[in-house]
Amino acid sequence: METLFTKIINREIPADIVYEDDISLAFKDISPQAPFHVLIIPKKPIATINDIEEGDREVIGHLYYVAGKIAKEHGFDEAGYRVVMNCNNDGGQTVYHIHAHLLAGKPMGWPPYTDRLKVG
Ligand code: AMP
Repeated sequence: METLFTKIINREIPADIVYEDDISLAFKDISPQAPFHVLIIPKKPIATINDIEEGDREVIGHLYYVAGKIAKEHGFDEAGYRVVMNCNNDGGQTVYHIHAHLLAGKPMGWPPYTDRLKVG
């Protein structure tokens, strides 16, 4: 199923792209949760972490390579940063095309979660 991230890859909707290569695309999150918040996605549309196959190992590893590369290029390597991937509802996933969040530019707490209110 096509998500809005496929549309960003295909330039059907705009995004503030910070990096692109044959395997991946990285762009600024539209609702940043840190001073610097980038999403790094594979061009291959994999829905969730549960859907990663053995043959995807290189693609997934590549996302981390790109995260480090972008963090270094923007000067966050020494201070540090966070890379996180949410999975399904309880993980807070809202777009079903896997993506690594690269968050930087402020000290972050641990644990990383806040409980979401359940209505009803
Ligand atoms: P997740 O909740 O882990 O699935 O993350 C999805 C992320 O996509 C959220 O942080 C959203 O703010 C972000 N997002 C949604 N639509 C767009 C968009 N059009 N461009 C950039 N980021 C987006």
